[in-house]
Amino acid sequence: MKYRIGVDIGGMSVKIGVVDSEFNLSEKLRFPTGEGCTAEYIINGIIDGCRKLMKKYPIESIGIGSPGCVDNANGVVLGAGNLPFKNEPLAQKVSEALSLPTFVENDGSCALIGEMAAGACKGCHDAVIITIGTGIGGAIVMNDRLVRGAKLGAGELGHFVIDRNGEECTCGLKGCFEQYASATALIEQTEKAIKENPDSILAECGKDEITGKTVFDASERGCEVAIALLKEYGNILSDGSNSLNHIFQPEMIVISGGIANQGKSLLALINPHLLPGTEVATTTLNGEGGIIGAALLGTEYSK
Ligand SMILES: [Zn+2]
Repeated sequence: MKYRIGVDIGGMSVKIGVVDSEFNLSEKLRFPTGEGCTAEYIINGIIDGCRKLMKKYPIESIGIGSPGCVDNANGVVLGAGNLPFKNEPLAQKVSEALSLPTFVENDGSCALIGEMAAGACKGCHDAVIITIGTGIGGAIVMNDRLVRGAKLGAGELGHFVIDRNGEECTCGLKGCFEQYASATALIEQTEKAIKENPDSILAECGKDEITGKTVFDASERGCEVAIALLKEYGNILSDGSNSLNHIFQPEMIVISGGIANQGKSLLALINPHLLPGTEVATTTLNGEGGIIGAALLGTEYSK
C-alpha cells in the first residue's frame, strides 16, 4: 500500500491526514490557527504533524492545500487572504525539513481533485466545485486540467455579481454571489428572519446559537418562516449553478463546505430550478475532500 500526506490549511485549523492508494484517510491530526498566528507557526505545525505521521507510515509525498493564490509550479503561496502568507515558499521549506517531495495548490482546487478521484464527480473530465463557507471559493477542471488563470487566481466562483446595487463585497465589487449564498449570508438571513418573527419555530431553534444548520432544523419541524427562507436560498444557489453551467458546461457542479452536510435537503431546494443539462451534487467525502485532493498533488490526478 502507498501512503501520501494531504494537508488542508483553513482559517480555523490545519488538518493533516494520511491517505492510502485507495483514497481512504488512514489517520488525521489537526492544530488550531486563527488571528495572530504567524507563517512560521503554521509551517512548523505542518512539519511537526507530518513527522509524527511519517514515523507510522511509509510516506511517498506531501501535498498542501492553501487558501488564496498559489504558484503551484514553484510551490509558493503568493497571497492568502486572512492567512499570514505572502510569497511564502511553502513547498521548499517543508521538503527541506522532511526530505520528501512536497507540492502546494489552492485549497479549492484540492477539494475538486479529491471529488474527481474519489467523490461526487468521480470519473468526470470537466467539473466545477463551489465551496460554501465563510465566503464562497471554487475550482474548475476542464479536460482533466485545472484552470488556474494567467495570474494563478482563477476559480473565485463566489464573485460574479448578481445585484450591482447589493451589499459591498471584500473583493471590491457589490452584490457578489457570495454575499447571498455563503454560510455567513445564510446565517445573516436567519438572524433577520428571527428578529422579524420572534414567535416562530425558527426563533426557538436559534435561541442558543444560530448556525447554517438552524434554518434546516426549523424547516424540518414545519416552520413556514424557515421554509420560505430556504426556498429563496435554494433559488439563489440554483441561479448560481445555472449561470456556472452556461459558462463552463461541466459534467457536474459539486457543492462542498458545511452546508453540503444537508445533502438531500439542500439538493431538494436546488434541483427543481435547474435548467436541462445542469447537474449539481453535494460532496460525498464528508469534509475530507481537501485532504484527499492535497495528498494527490504530484500524481496523475493533479495537472
Ligand atoms: Zn466579491
